[in-house]
Parts: sequence; structure tokens; C-alpha cells
Amino acid sequence: MTSPSFDALVIGAGVGGLCAAARLAHQGYRTLVVERLDQVGGRASTHDVDGFKINNGAIVLELGGITEQTFAELGVEYNVRRPSPPLMYRIGGKTMDITGGGWGMLLSKLTRQGAKLVSGLGAARHDDGLPEDQLSLADWVGRYTKNETVHGVFRNMCGSVFAVGSEELPAKVFLTYFTRKSAFKKFGFCPDGTIGPWQALADYLPLHGGEVWLSSQVDELRVTDGQVTGAVIERDGETVEISCRFVISNAGPAATADMCPEDALPDGYTADLREKLKPCGMITVNFASERPLLDAPGLTSFGKTRRLVYVANFTATCPEMAPPGWHLYAGTSVPKPAVGDFDTEAETELLMADLRDEVPGFDEAKIVSVAVMRDDWPPQRAVAGFDLPHDTPIPNLFNVGDAVKEYANGGTTACAETAKIVVDKLTERFPR
Ligand SMILES: Cc1cc2nc3c(=O)[nH]c(=O)nc-3n(C[C@H](O)[C@H](O)[C@H](O)COP(=O)(O)OP(=O)(O)OC[C@H]3O[C@@H](n4cnc5c(N)ncnc54)[C@H](O)[C@@H]3O)c2cc1C
Repeated sequence: MTSPSFDALVIGAGVGGLCAAARLAHQGYRTLVVERLDQVGGRASTHDVDGFKINNGAIVLELGGITEQTFAELGVEYNVRRPSPPLMYRIGGKTMDITGGGWGMLLSKLTRQGAKLVSGLGAARHDDGLPEDQLSLADWVGRYTKNETVHGVFRNMCGSVFAVGSEELPAKVFLTYFTRKSAFKKFGFCPDGTIGPWQALADYLPLHGGEVWLSSQVDELRVTDGQVTGAVIERDGETVEISCRFVISNAGPAATADMCPEDALPDGYTADLREKLKPCGMITVNFASERPLLDAPGLTSFGKTRRLVYVANFTATCPEMAPPGWHLYAGTSVPKPAVGDFDTEAETELLMADLRDEVPGFDEAKIVSVAVMRDDWPPQRAVAGFDLPHDTPIPNLFNVGDAVKEYANGGTTACAETAKIVVDKLTERFPR
């Protein structure tokens, strides 16, 4: 029997994998996506819990960046609704709308050093205004002020975007992101939960000659003469072999290396990847109530908290995410430390304590789920600024996803960006 043959094998139906696969199919490459789980989206997916649409990772999706651009190029609907205002701050028990005034307005209300901080942010627009690589964001803020609320604002902004504390992120990454990138200035929620756009990409594939195999796992890559020629896949309890011209992996660089025969990679390559990859952790409490608990229709961020970085209000813009009459929220924290080991129980308790303090009526809310995301299910597989390359020692094997982000990018946007870069490279190297 001959094995099924494809131009491209994409391992994993996360954001990076599906954006890459859809781009390839759009250009006429016969593309197979293999996903070990029974649904798409990876760490940006959604499950039904008692009629609530509960995200298993990503919460908000960027509008106006590379992700929306990908959907526009493919002609696929990007169903993301923007709350208005998207972001509010709750400081000292009051909710503040900073629309129009931005950080300048917020910081000037919190500290007399606000203007200096804003000018420090402004200076970072020029390369010579960026700090040295080793300086953490917390230390950079500390050059301007000791104000704990201001430090809290930066810690929480850092946590929201990069999923680490401000003491764990180089200031240069943060400043580069906010002065040179699309920087999540516009964002929203999908009424189907975060899975929505990725499901739309998975639905696009079969219409353009592609296939998506769910509940299927790539076990091994076949490598001949230094090139990947195919893969061994577990599908419906059977072992299937396929052949392909090239492979894009969304499984993370270390898991990808594990799929290769040992002699296909240089000595120490996989160990080196594991050493360099520093995944972080986050905790989310999904809660619901029959009366509204927050004024802000999008994200609420905070000043000084124990661990809480934001609360998302889904149902103000997407009532479809909860049964009729219910309001659905998610409160997310960055543990200390976010990189490395942390005490799950104690960290969850600190998040609960913050939610009790910051969300009036939280004690009467229904706790729909508590999710600790770490280790093999991290909010970011590599901390921004410490990313690995897309390329591998095998010239027709590439990685996409949040371990191989461009410098100073984060989240689903960064994954969609990796897909574009890798597909552009591959289509040039392997014309149809
Ligand atoms: C708590 C939390 C909050 C977050 N908040 C946001 C947010 O609000 N906005 C935002 O943009 N980002 C957010 N993120 C980050 C975002 O979710 C991730 O950066 C992004 O989803 C990672 O996508 P990826 O392309 O790296 O693929 P992954 O999501 O890692 O997907 C990889 C897929 O590959 C599959 N796979 C692995 N091995 C195999 C194999 N051998 N065979 C077949 N399939 C395999 C996996 O099952 C998985 O589905 C958050 C993450 C978390 C955890």
C-alpha cells in the first residue's frame, strides 16, 4: 500500500500551526494538519462547562495586527468583538477609563514622577533610548519611582502581555513591544470563546485541498539523507505512515526534536533546547454571577495586587458565552516566580484573595473552574526575549508558535507572525 502523500505536514492545530497550514493551503500546497487532541486551538481553545464557554488559555485576541491580517488575506471571517472601552483600571476601589489619555493620564494621576516615566517610554522609540539587555522591567521602573501602585501597574501590564512578572522580563523587551509593535492596542473576545477563529481556519482547510486529523498524534518523523520525508502517525488506534515534502511543527522545539531519529540531529541539540526553553505559568479562575460584578466591559487591570493581573468580562460583549441571565468573568494571575517552580495551592489562594478584594460580590459568584497553566501547558513556551529560532538542523523542518517568537512579541499575535515568516521561507525554498 502506498502511504498518503502531502506537500506539507503540520504537527499541531494551535494558532501557529493553523495559521501556517491555512496560508499554505491558500497557496495551493496540499496540507495535512495532525492534532493529538480532539479539538483545535491548542492553548487558545475553549470547552463547554455547564453551558459556559471556558477558555483553556488565551482570553483576548488582537484586532488590527498580523492575526486579523492573516484572516483577511485568506478571506476567512475573524469574529472578534471589541469592547468599548477595551481596558479600564481599578485602583483604590474606583474604576478608571483611560481611553484617549493612555498611560500618560494614568501615571500622572498616580505619581509626580509620571511625566518622567512617560518621557522614558517616549525615549525608547529611539534605539539609543532603550536600556541595556540585562535590566529588568521592575528595575527600569525603579529608576523613576518607588510608588508601589505604579510598580503594580507595570507588573500587571507585563503579566497580561508576557505572562511573567516585571522582575522576570527585560525592560528592553517591554519597551520595544510598546514602542514598535502592534502591542494589542485593539483587542476583543470571540463569542464562541477563543477557539472560534482557529475553528474557522480548520474549516477553511478541507475547502482548499487540506485535511485536519484530530485525536491523532505524530510519533516519529522519517528522516532520509538529512531531510524529513514523512511521518508515523497514530490515528484511530492505527499506525499510519504519510510522506511529505516539508514539515512545520507547532509542538514546541523540544517535542519536535524528540520526534526525530537521534542520529538526524547534532549531539546535544535536544538537551540544549531543553536548557534554553523556560516556560512560565499562569492561574485563571473562571467565575459567573447572575448580577453584573464589574463596570468595565473588557479587561480590568489593577495597581498593586498580590498576584491578580486582570479580570476579563466576557458577557458584556459576548453574552453567547454564558447561559441566559448569567455573566461570565475570568481573573488571571502571574505567580511568583512565573518561571520555574511555584507553590500551586498558595498561589491560587493569593489569586482568590485578590479577587475577593478587587471584585465586589466575588464571594457569591459561582466558581466555574480554576486552571493552573504551567509546564507542558504554559502561557508562553519561551519567555519573550529568550526565544529560539524557527529553523532546525534539518532544512525542511521548521517550528512555529510561541517558543520561536520574534523579539519582543507575545501571545497569539506572535504565533500568527511565526506562521507567516516560516511559510514565506518555505514557499520560496519549495515552490509548488
Ligand atoms: C492562561 C493563558 C492566558 C493567555 N492569554 C492570552 C491572551 O489573552 N491573548 C493571547 O494572544 N495569548 C494568550 N495566551 C498565549 C497563547 O494562548 C499562546 O501563546 C498560543 O495559544 C500558543 O500557540 P502555539 O501556536 O504555540 O500552539 P499550542 O497552543 O502550543 O498548540 C500546539 C498544538 O500541538 C499539539 N501537539 C503537540 N504535540 C503533538 C504531536 N506529537 N502530534 C500532534 N499534535 C501535537 C498540541 O496538542 C497543541 O494543540 C495565554 C495563554 C495562557 C495559558
